[in-house]
Amino acid sequence: KTFVDSGLPENVLECCKGFEKPSPIQSLTWPFLLDGRDLIGIAATGSGKTLAFGIPAIMHVLNKRKSKGSSKGRNPLCLMLSPTRELAQQISDVLCDAGKSCGVESICLYGGTSKGPQISALKSGVDIVIGTPGRIQDLVEMGICCLKEVSFAVLDEADRMLDMGFEQIVRSILGQTCSVRQMVMFSATWPLAVHHLAQEFMDPNPIKV
Ligand code: AMP
Repeated sequence: KTFVDSGLPENVLECCKGFEKPSPIQSLTWPFLLDGRDLIGIAATGSGKTLAFGIPAIMHVLNKRKSKGSSKGRNPLCLMLSPTRELAQQISDVLCDAGKSCGVESICLYGGTSKGPQISALKSGVDIVIGTPGRIQDLVEMGICCLKEVSFAVLDEADRMLDMGFEQIVRSILGQTCSVRQMVMFSATWPLAVHHLAQEFMDPNPIKV
């Protein structure tokens, strides 16, 4: 499969210019994610999974914008949770680059750094929030980060996130998002705790790749 086969707009594919063709995980997931399906992916880092969920997230924002229009001070439409700052930053770097050509703005929220710049970015309006559960929950509780319009959510490295003790906080964060929501979970393994989380927050029959 080629990038042209994906049917994605040229400006959205700008970030893939250096690549010959979609990676297997991208070819497999894009059709389902662009169709609005919930999806569980078992994939390792290095497979191109960031753009596998990142490009559908960007498309989600562009499609929503068509119906609502975009404005300053808007609430985020997509949320991506990651267990560590480093991973969150990696995802954010990819999404910030990918969003440039189509005007989709992302922000990375993690702890251990001052909240000031994160607060002013949220206030001026962003489309995609990427970050670690602790800081996101903090900003939600402060009333600064509003998740009620999030209709596309990603849990990356879900098994690691639960191993690190984030289960309750992840539940609480997901509980604040829009009830009509597309949900993507990536995990390297599939333990019972991850399975339960999927049962709670996903369609009964998610796509598995
Ligand atoms: P990830 O698994 O998302 O961390 O991506 C791993 C690496 O693969 C990154 O350096 C990406 O830039 C690269 N990559 C992503 N998509 C493709 C693709 N379609 N072809 C070749 N490399 C890619």
